[in-house]
Amino acid sequence: MFQKILIANRGEIALRIQRACRELGIATVAVHSTADAEAMHVRLADESVCIGPPAAKDSYLNIPSILSAAAITGADAIHPGYGFLSENANFAEMVDAHGLTFIGPSADHISMMGDKIAAKTAMAAVGVPLVPGSDGGVPDLDTARTVASRIGYPVLIKAAAGGGGRGMKVAKGPEELEDAFRLARTESRAAFGNDAVYIEKYLDKPRHIELQIMADNHGSVVHFGERDCSLQRRHQKLLEEAGSPAISAEQRDQLGEVATAALRKLGYRNAGTLEFLYQDGQFAFIEMNTRLQVEHPVTEMLCGIDLVREQIRLAAGARLGYEQRDVQFNGHAIEARITAEDPHTFVPTPGRVTAFHAPGGLGVRVDSALYAGYFVPPYYDSLVAKLIVHAPTRTEAINRMRRALDEFAVVGIQTTIPLHRRIVDDAAFQRGDYTIHWLERFVAG
Ligand code: ADP
Repeated sequence: MFQKILIANRGEIALRIQRACRELGIATVAVHSTADAEAMHVRLADESVCIGPPAAKDSYLNIPSILSAAAITGADAIHPGYGFLSENANFAEMVDAHGLTFIGPSADHISMMGDKIAAKTAMAAVGVPLVPGSDGGVPDLDTARTVASRIGYPVLIKAAAGGGGRGMKVAKGPEELEDAFRLARTESRAAFGNDAVYIEKYLDKPRHIELQIMADNHGSVVHFGERDCSLQRRHQKLLEEAGSPAISAEQRDQLGEVATAALRKLGYRNAGTLEFLYQDGQFAFIEMNTRLQVEHPVTEMLCGIDLVREQIRLAAGARLGYEQRDVQFNGHAIEARITAEDPHTFVPTPGRVTAFHAPGGLGVRVDSALYAGYFVPPYYDSLVAKLIVHAPTRTEAINRMRRALDEFAVVGIQTTIPLHRRIVDDAAFQRGDYTIHWLERFVAG
């Protein structure tokens, strides 16, 4: 087992990883930018190293700085969290080249899944159903026209290097294709330095359902059930549930069998999430995330498992030590992502938190690095807290979420707590009757 882990991240996820390390008796190294010197993840770590100025490219994305921090502190492994360098194959390779362990999959799998065209090709080859679309990349407008008329409009042009919903454009009919194609390429080049795009059928009423898997280095793969992440704004998730109100236990088992068999064939290891769109009773793969996800706590609550502990154990070479039938799904869990944003306009609201009171009680979990007096810096993602509830039934989980949101006080900055409060009171949400398009309309209305 590792003696000391460097956590190459900040905020709530850095704390989350520290907690798992501490329970395993592993020392932790925090890294931080100059803007984060007072951050909670620095205060609670065993050691900390400043890795650069506020801009992420100079600090949390600065590979030489992070590797130097690992070397001078004698860390033997690096956990990347989510975002930042977590899906950077070059980073994973350099961590290995420096004799450290990258807590995650192999660099080859990271780069395969990071190219969404390659990911779809690889998944199709191991029997995973895809959203209908182009067979690989679409190099020019003529090809785009041919593909679009074959699969039928509306279509979605997507960036091969996509992430965070960027580089994605809908064409409702042939007259919109040229603009959508050019815009998707331009946006993708600007965001990712890569303008490769592909085309998918645009689904009009899908749910986003993803499956959590965990694989050891010895060929065993299990899944921990699905999360329903359909509540999105601008393709970004706001509230997640486990399990999905839309699928049955049999569907979960079937999807799990397909996904775990596929990853076994690919020789995948450590944590991963397969994302699907679900419509008219069919699952269709869209992408795979080769890292821990923001919404992993709903799965932890549902299955009673510490996914970060598992990641660390497996990265150290341990065997899973249990089988699919040992994984239990109990009750229902919901996570609300609370961001430092105006709940109506979504304009970021960095600033000083003057008072902070987190909710508690049975089945309530708060993953947050906030504290009274903390200054939320303007440089990073606006996520400031995740409120997770767990209860025997979905109805009880919703009631618990409402109660916990009412107790939650963040004073000094605006947050999206009032928006979540409105969502849980909505009749359609309570019926579980929503698709990926529902929240945009809810927010606008
Ligand atoms: P990113 O990596 O940028 O997050 P994804 O491929 O994961 O991109 O898609 C993000 C979201 O965009 C999905 O959760 C879904 O809401 C929407 N989306 C993606 N593909 C389609 C599609 N073919 N039809 C309709 N919506 C889609």
